[in-house]
Amino acid sequence: MSSSVTRVPVVDYLALGDGDPHLVGHRCDACGATHLDRHNACPACGGRAFTSTPLPTTGRIESFTVLHRGAPKHIGPFVSVLVRLDDGTYVKANLVGVPPEASAVDTDEPVHLVTYPAGTDDDGTEAVAFGFAYASGDDRTRDDQHGNEGDDR
Ligand SMILES: [Zn+2]
Repeated sequence: MSSSVTRVPVVDYLALGDGDPHLVGHRCDACGATHLDRHNACPACGGRAFTSTPLPTTGRIESFTVLHRGAPKHIGPFVSVLVRLDDGTYVKANLVGVPPEASAVDTDEPVHLVTYPAGTDDDGTEAVAFGFAYASGDDRTRDDQHGNEGDDR
């Protein structure tokens, strides 16, 4: 560990260490349903045994909403999406790289997982968050999308 910047995921189901960033789910041994949160029993079948499993980093948007308020560091508007990953697991996240407008969201187009710094603490530890972006990130990004993150007082 000689890296000067320590990176920690903002959620424990985001894996940064081994290979490309990906999410890790809890797959029910009985029925195969996969959940991001740890459950004592499977909501689908009541099974009690789970296996940690890396999840695909690609999927499609099932539904979305444009939010105009969020946690203090993320004052909107931003696009919140429910993504159905290629293995059927549902993930709620932000859609990044698009203007925060309903007209910018295309639910037919596949998305993929991306990570971005969510902030740095006094020790230089960088918090890493995840979101989803369109695979073909061409001309959707209008420049002011990520511009207002410099409000560190
Ligand atoms: Zn189950």
